[in-house]
Amino acid sequence: GSGKGTQAEMLAKATLWKKISTGDLFRAEIAAGTKLGKAAAKYLKSGKLVPDKVTVSLVEHSLKQKAPGFIFDGFPRNKKQLNELLLIFKKILKKYDQVYALEVAVSDKEVKQRLSQRRMCACGKVYHLVYNPPINAGVCDICGSKLFIRNDDKPKVIAHRLHVYHQAGEPILDYFIKQGKLIKIDGEQKKKKIHD
Ligand code: AMP
Repeated sequence: GSGKGTQAEMLAKATLWKKISTGDLFRAEIAAGTKLGKAAAKYLKSGKLVPDKVTVSLVEHSLKQKAPGFIFDGFPRNKKQLNELLLIFKKILKKYDQVYALEVAVSDKEVKQRLSQRRMCACGKVYHLVYNPPINAGVCDICGSKLFIRNDDKPKVIAHRLHVYHQAGEPILDYFIKQGKLIKIDGEQKKKKIHD
């Protein structure tokens, strides 16, 4: 709910780097009804992290694409995934000093507000009922499909996702701070300002 997906998308367009969003990859697998999707569905529904082994192998597979650079959206999400990612970098990159972490910082209060008002379309367009509403209520401006609420945007699940973020995600920030590689951005500004 920080807007990291939107920012990753804008950054990918501006740099031509490839965006790897683990959340999007899982949602696509679920929509396609694959074995991996079926296994991941219960975790997404409850706001829990999908097991590291599954997540890391999905990322490793995505890294096989040719690209001038990569942007990870929502990965790594805990210390184990970070360590696995560093091992992958060691394996595939000659040098990996050009790895930075971007923290799109948003208060829990703002996250709860944003997610409870978020509406999605299957085409990928995201709306907010107050700040970015569709022209016609409940219908996508782009493709006309019916909008839906993400399963994990329900209040109880939001609370759990925040808990998971603080517990598992914050040690990752510490790692990048120590490396002098964390770029912290105020995520409660206008989309364009955050991007700039
Ligand atoms: P997101 O779209 O980044 O908000 O992710 C939505 C959900 O996908 C999370 O709540 C997790 O259930 C799952 N997920 C996304 N990224 C990861 C990851 N790196 N590790 C484990 N689970 C993930």
